[in-house]
Amino acid sequence: MTPLATSICLFNTLTRQKEKFTPIDECQVRMYTCGPTVYDYAHIGNFRAFLFEDLLKRWLEYRGFTVTHVMNLTDVDDKTIKGSQKQQTPLRQYTEYYAKAFFEDATALNIKPASHYPRATEHIPEMVTLIKTLISKGYAYKGEDDSTYYAISKFKNYGQLSKIKIRNLKTGARVKVDEYAKEEAQDFALWKAWTTEDGDVCWETELGKGRPGWHIECSAMSMKYLGETFDIHCGGVDNMFPHHENEIAQSEAATGKRFVNYWLHNEHLLVEGKRMAKRYGNFYTLRDLLKMGHDPKAIRYLLLSTHYRQQFNFTFEGLEAAKGAIDRLTNLMRRLLDADGKSSKEKIDQLIAKVQTGFGEAMDDDLNISVALAALFDFVREINNLLDANALSKKEAKEVYTLMAGFDKVLGVIGEVKREETLPKEAAELISQREEARKAKDWKAADAIRQQLKAMGIVIEDTAQGVRWKIEKA
Ligand SMILES: [Zn+2]
Repeated sequence: MTPLATSICLFNTLTRQKEKFTPIDECQVRMYTCGPTVYDYAHIGNFRAFLFEDLLKRWLEYRGFTVTHVMNLTDVDDKTIKGSQKQQTPLRQYTEYYAKAFFEDATALNIKPASHYPRATEHIPEMVTLIKTLISKGYAYKGEDDSTYYAISKFKNYGQLSKIKIRNLKTGARVKVDEYAKEEAQDFALWKAWTTEDGDVCWETELGKGRPGWHIECSAMSMKYLGETFDIHCGGVDNMFPHHENEIAQSEAATGKRFVNYWLHNEHLLVEGKRMAKRYGNFYTLRDLLKMGHDPKAIRYLLLSTHYRQQFNFTFEGLEAAKGAIDRLTNLMRRLLDADGKSSKEKIDQLIAKVQTGFGEAMDDDLNISVALAALFDFVREINNLLDANALSKKEAKEVYTLMAGFDKVLGVIGEVKREETLPKEAAELISQREEARKAKDWKAADAIRQQLKAMGIVIEDTAQGVRWKIEKA
């Protein structure tokens, strides 16, 4: 299918509307997503954003687009400097550690790598050039503290993304910190003159000795790799102001062109009904959850399964349900590998057409994942019914398998599925003997048989659904 034949609609924060997605180039999408600030381990709220972006990219690819995806690493800003000083570690060494951790986490969650991961500290000349352009065009000026500021009153479209009004702006009011609230909208720092608080973090440039503000980093790096105008820019809703608003102001003032065509923002994550915060005891990094023994695929599934524009409530109950959902998908794939029954051609054709339409239309509709998953699980149930009745031929099973693997390119939760292992006959006998012993409450005998099985490399587990076994890998 050519990408043109699709009709993907995305909710554009700029217009607060769903719009038909049309990229600048016919088949290629250029997309920028604000990456991690590498000053700590990323938490599950951060990963909600990265997973939504991964889903978006995978869906565009599923529909036939090639995606050039740039994700920056913020390795110099207020937070990284503060963190490295606290640990008394050089900035580079400090951020390198968390950058490595971020890549490990992203791999664990099966997030597809971006095309480029530019680091802010490696793009200082690009930032300086951009700031110099802003100065020459009258959008930036040097404050009495020697820092360079952006004059937001000069940019008539300031506030177009976050819809803030800046009528009551105090003239000359300036903000030097990277993060601030809408009510504090004022001229912000592009280049921060060095102070003793920065320690040895500084660059000698034409703008003086100092370091970049956070917002200019994303403008410089996105335009370097994606051009002055590109298709999609994503991030968490908390980045809409001031970060993204300032990115637009910087980029559009410098180039005189539209910066980004589609802005997409994901909503917040709550944990057990509350905003995640260390003081509530509900703050989790991915590593915390993995240490507790949770499956990264289940975490991925759970974080993906709610529409990105809805607040999402993360619960441990939900995580269990996510595990169950992945098991249902994986079990079906296993059954398909062994299917060899009578043909149900007409029924299968019908079911395949239905799920392709159901899943596809839902995803095209601004990534409506819950509707897409409902269509998928209807399909899974129907196919399981056919398998129960031994009414699926080998060829049909293969067709269904390929279709499911295609959906998994988007979801990324099944992966490689192996044929069900068969239990050696003597082991099966031992298991039923053990069941007899358990029924007779002869725990000693039951335990002895368990040990005997273990020696054969077979591990058994008593569950509410009966005995489960698995062959332990040597
Ligand atoms: Zn950014």
